[in-house]
Amino acid sequence: MEPVSPVPARPTVDLTGLPPERLLAHVQELGGRPVHAWTLLRALHREGLPDPAQVVPHLGKRLLAQLARTSHVARPRLGGGLASADGTTRYLLELRDGHRIEAVDIPEDHRTTLCISSQVGCAFGCSFCRTGTLGLERNLDPGEIAGQVALLRAHIEQAGREVTNVVFMGMGEPLANYPAVRDALQILMHDRGGGFPPKRLTVSTSGLPAGIRRLGEDFGGRISLAVSLTGTTDAQRDRLMPVNRRFPLDELLAACRAYPLAPGRTITFETVLLGDETDRPADADRLAALLGDLPVKVNLIPFNPFPGCGHRPPTPESIEAYFRRLNAAGVRTMIRQPRGRDVGAACGMLAASAPGLSSPPPAPRLARAPGPSPDGDGGPSSGTTG
Ligand code: SF4
Repeated sequence: MEPVSPVPARPTVDLTGLPPERLLAHVQELGGRPVHAWTLLRALHREGLPDPAQVVPHLGKRLLAQLARTSHVARPRLGGGLASADGTTRYLLELRDGHRIEAVDIPEDHRTTLCISSQVGCAFGCSFCRTGTLGLERNLDPGEIAGQVALLRAHIEQAGREVTNVVFMGMGEPLANYPAVRDALQILMHDRGGGFPPKRLTVSTSGLPAGIRRLGEDFGGRISLAVSLTGTTDAQRDRLMPVNRRFPLDELLAACRAYPLAPGRTITFETVLLGDETDRPADADRLAALLGDLPVKVNLIPFNPFPGCGHRPPTPESIEAYFRRLNAAGVRTMIRQPRGRDVGAACGMLAASAPGLSSPPPAPRLARAPGPSPDGDGGPSSGTTG
C-alpha cells in the first residue's frame, strides 16, 4: 500500500487539491511553464501518480526541487476494503490526520461509478442514514476529495475497468463543504485533470437551497444534481431529515426550479422507501404532485436497515406499487437495486468501520464483457447514501 506523505515541517501547498488555474499560477511562480502545470495535473489526477518526482523527465530537476520545497501531495491512503458478492467494493481510506472515510466502487454492465465522501462523518442526522449517527468530525479538503478519485481510479484501472461516473453520495453533505467540493469538481472536470464530462459528476444534497444555487451559478447547471427528498410533507421531512426544519420543501423546490439545467437534462430526486412511513400510495401521489412542474427522474431506494435505526424496509409489493403509481402519474422513475448490502456499502450504510473493512483491499474486479453503449446520462443509477 502507498505510504501516507509525512506532514511537512512547514506549511506547503497540497498539489492534489489545487484547482487547475491555481496549479498553473503556482507552477509559473516557481518558474515553470503552462505545459509543466498541465503535465503535473494530468499525472496527479488522470494517471494517479502519487509523487511529482515520478514525472521528472517532463518537469525538469529545477522545477522539481522548487516543488519539493513549496508543496506536497496529500491524497488519502488505501486502508482496506470489502468486496460484495454483487461486484461492489467498499474501500476504507485513511487521511493524514488518522481520520477515516469510505468510497465505493460500483461496477455495472456499461459503466463504473465511484461514490466518494465529502466530509468525515456528517452533521445532518437523517434518520435513515448510518453516517448521520456519527456526527461531523471535519470537512475534507479539495485534495482529499479529488484524491479519492485519483487513488481508486488507478486501482480500478488495473483490472481493465474505466471509472465513468463520480457521485458525491458517500459520507457527508457535499454542499455543506461547498468551497472544497467546488475546487474538487474543477479538478475532476478539467480536460487535463480528471477529464470527466461534467454531466457524469453528480452532487447529491439533503436539501441546502443556497448550495444548490451556488452550484448552479458556478458550473452553469452542467454538474448533475441529485436531491434526497424522501419525505413529501414538511412534517414528515422535519422528522426524517432535520435539515428541513431550516429549509422547508418550498424553499428547496424553488432552488431546484432555478437550477440552470441544459435542455433535456433532469434533476434526480432520491426517495428512501421506509416501510409504512414513506412507501404508501399517498406518499407516491404527493411526490408526483410536488415534482409535477420539474424536469426530474426519481430513484426509489428501498431502505437498508442498520443497527439501532427505527425504520423498517419496504415490502416488495409496496415498492412495486409506489413505482407503478409514479409512472402512471408521468414521473420517470427507477427502483435503485441495492448494491453492496452484504458488506454494508449500500445506501445510507457507510460508517468507516465494519468487521473486515480494515483488511487488505481486495483486487479490483475485472471488466465484464462490453454490452450496449452507456446511456450517457449523468444521473446516478448507483450510489450509496441519500
Ligand atoms: S443522508 Fe447524507 S446528509 Fe443525511 S445524514 Fe446521511 S450523509 Fe448526512
